[in-house]
Amino acid sequence: MANKPEEINIPFCEAYRKTKDILTEAGFETPAFEALCLTEKVFGFNRLALITKGEETVASEEKLAVLAELTEKRLNHEPLQYLLGKWSFMGIDLLVGEGVLVPRDDTEVVTSLCIDYLSCKESPNVIDLCAGSGAISLALEKYANCKVTAVELSDKAFSYLTQNIKLNNSAVNALNGDIFECHKDIADNSLDLIVSNPPYIKTADIASLQKEVQHEPAMALDGGESGLDFYRKIVPLWKSKLKAGGALAFELGEGQYDEVSRILADNGFGGITESIDFGGIQRAIIGTLLQK
Ligand code: GLN
Repeated sequence: MANKPEEINIPFCEAYRKTKDILTEAGFETPAFEALCLTEKVFGFNRLALITKGEETVASEEKLAVLAELTEKRLNHEPLQYLLGKWSFMGIDLLVGEGVLVPRDDTEVVTSLCIDYLSCKESPNVIDLCAGSGAISLALEKYANCKVTAVELSDKAFSYLTQNIKLNNSAVNALNGDIFECHKDIADNSLDLIVSNPPYIKTADIASLQKEVQHEPAMALDGGESGLDFYRKIVPLWKSKLKAGGALAFELGEGQYDEVSRILADNGFGGITESIDFGGIQRAIIGTLLQK
């Protein structure tokens, strides 16, 4: 006969507090929030239950062991979002895990810029290059009433992308391909908007990023020696796909606005505009194609 897991008298709230203390001790910035996320995930309760039923002793040994394992992984700086297995972006739940970039608040900046641009277009066609989990694509399809194709090269990331489309009943069309090849399959003059959050970190800077980022796919981060490789390649390769007056929008790394603005201008784009994030950084750029 299988052993019944031993009953132990630890209430929810104590499991939560213990996790919070461990994360505080280890110097994490938001230990209470993270402990809450992890305990919620393991015990399946919400915040309210922690207050109203926190003293109930339902923490089984098995569940405590799962919580301890997740806490241990967090101490090893695995991203919280990977441990939770999902994360929300602009009100959209996205599955995430090893092999796909975690959707970041920063990316709301380029997404909002695109929503504004698309607001005056009639059922526009959009392509999202380096789509990852699908954050930008799903948000545009949901909020901007457009037809979106999401291109992703990595098989692991692509699997998250397709799962996220299904999870959200989204009509985004997913394409598992290389953005430096698949432009050949897209008709000229067919797109209203090309958007991309490409890898934009300088290769030499990657090793000094937060430990959490080291767990994320280098392929989604590494923008070459200058960090600008993808901007330099995407703009000339893809601009013929835009309709006249169509736009190209990018997320940017810190300090990249001037150079990317120059690349767009050199390729016949005008009306080049920036958008600033909460930290005051020029986080996104959009330009419209003037010459065809
Ligand atoms: N915003 C990410 C970071 O700073 C980088 C994402 C990217 O390269 N597109 O970690």
